[in-house]
Amino acid sequence: MSPMPRDRTPILIAATTAIASCALLALSIWFGWLGPDVGRGANFCEAPNGWTVRQPANTFSNAGFVVAGLLIAWHAGVPGEAGKGLAAHRYLATFMACLVVLLGPGSAAMHATQSTVGGHLDMSSMYLVASFAVAYAAMRWLRGNVRLFGAAFVAALAFCELVGLWRGELAVVMHSGNAAFAFLLVAAITIEVLIIRRREVRARIPYALTSLASMLAAFVIWNVGKVWLCDPHSLIQGHAAWHILCAVSVYFLYRYYAGEEVADGPRQGRSSLEDPRRKPGAGPVARVGSGPRRSWRRWRVAAAVTPAEEET
Ligand SMILES: [Zn+2]
Repeated sequence: MSPMPRDRTPILIAATTAIASCALLALSIWFGWLGPDVGRGANFCEAPNGWTVRQPANTFSNAGFVVAGLLIAWHAGVPGEAGKGLAAHRYLATFMACLVVLLGPGSAAMHATQSTVGGHLDMSSMYLVASFAVAYAAMRWLRGNVRLFGAAFVAALAFCELVGLWRGELAVVMHSGNAAFAFLLVAAITIEVLIIRRREVRARIPYALTSLASMLAAFVIWNVGKVWLCDPHSLIQGHAAWHILCAVSVYFLYRYYAGEEVADGPRQGRSSLEDPRRKPGAGPVARVGSGPRRSWRRWRVAAAVTPAEEET
């Protein structure tokens, strides 16, 4: 049997998003459209220089997000590889890929310019991805459709923007926008655990654990890199490692989503993973994709997305 041809739509949309957003950012930096340097993001160790790009290591390390987004889109283009969950709502994988791509220029806007607008772009790009995570979890948990996803996504985004308006210092996470971001990620993890425990789906726990471990390692580095282990004039920056580890984390979060399968056993209600066009009683959904899976990949242990705080 010859493999089905790759759907190039996801990668074309994600690549267009990447080229357009990065080109717009480059022009914005060059012409100073993002406003004056007000020291936004200057607390991440790297000393601002007099160049056009203020924090080179912390700026260019955001390329990891663009790469992760493109890898997601590339993977999503293989028929069946996006799993039953994302395949039932195909454009969601492409949407996620584009949001991950935007984390790159969004975060780079702040580190390159240290401007107020750059800071807003950075936070907004984080809000978008966290809102996706919580909305996608909520849709599956409530066995809803894409309208529920859309409503939850908009609500989560509005929540972040509103909470982010509060100006005050917070311990560890520094400010309210980061707290909102962290809250959404913890909510997403909690819902993912509930989904796994419901046993309507088989989850690829190793992917979830890799995502979680990357994010936890990134968060440790994010904290220690601000004060300790800080050489402001080095091109090796802890915060740059945070960016790259976050990119790894979000890629494996996607793989966790994409690896979800409908469980074979009895269950109540209809899982949102099922194709609504399938006839009732047609039996368990067969895994589409490559070959037999090793049993360790089918563990139904709880784990999921990733906590993270702070500006990317
Ligand atoms: Zn950053």
